[in-house]
Amino acid sequence: MQDTIRLKLLGVRGTVPVHGEQFRQFGGATSCVFLRVGEESVILDAGTGLLTQKVYPFFSGKHFSLLLTHPHVDHLMGLPMFAPLFDSESRCDVYLKTRNGLTAREQVERLIAPPLWPIRTGAFKGEMRFHDVLPSFQIGRVQVDTMDSVHPGGSTIYKLSLDGVSVVYATDFEPADDNPEAFCAFAKGCSLLLLDAQYTDEEYPRVKGFGHSTISRSAAIADRCGAKRTLLIHHDPNRTDSQLIELEQAVRTGNPNVSFGREGEEICL
Ligand SMILES: [Zn+2]
Ligand SMILES: [Zn+2]
Repeated sequence: MQDTIRLKLLGVRGTVPVHGEQFRQFGGATSCVFLRVGEESVILDAGTGLLTQKVYPFFSGKHFSLLLTHPHVDHLMGLPMFAPLFDSESRCDVYLKTRNGLTAREQVERLIAPPLWPIRTGAFKGEMRFHDVLPSFQIGRVQVDTMDSVHPGGSTIYKLSLDGVSVVYATDFEPADDNPEAFCAFAKGCSLLLLDAQYTDEEYPRVKGFGHSTISRSAAIADRCGAKRTLLIHHDPNRTDSQLIELEQAVRTGNPNVSFGREGEEICL
């Protein structure tokens, strides 16, 4: 039987890309996940992870959907160099929620436009179609449900479902407590949960309000949601491999279904 959903984590680092020996195992590229959901090619966020592959996994190259959570630079900086956009036969549907009166295109062109970048999105050879994000919509047979995250300036949490298999992508999310009821109802019983966990409990008092969760809180939420499997993502840019491995071991003792996302990791559902 064919897998309903295949995905590959291309960037799991938060805030800024990093590189060096100490970041080899978890990777230094920022937020990006490639998915093949049934017949659809879907990309979640366009951080520098978008540029880490020369051959794109399970990617049709001709038509794909790009679901953006929000326009913070770490989620957008891979987009202007993404090779398929320069293919005149490609078609990309970009989804980004209208915020503060700015449409999807206007938000993207805050970064991809002079003076911050030499060209605007109109210069891509492929077709780019921009869409607002609705509470629910379809991409072919794929059901997409969304909810607002808690994050400075706003962000979107996505759930993709097909034939009873579902993936929830909740990055840049600062839940108020260990039981955010609306989110737990939204993610209940999902096949895979990708969940922000940038900080440790020790760091949190200094970074409260920055829009990110903690490892212990996200592990508790994963448990409460009944997610079959959870990968914690948006690792702090200062966190080295050895620190992440130590923190992961600690969290897995109480939550065996929870692990830390690694750049390059592939999952079939
Ligand atoms: Zn981010
Ligand atoms: Zn952000």
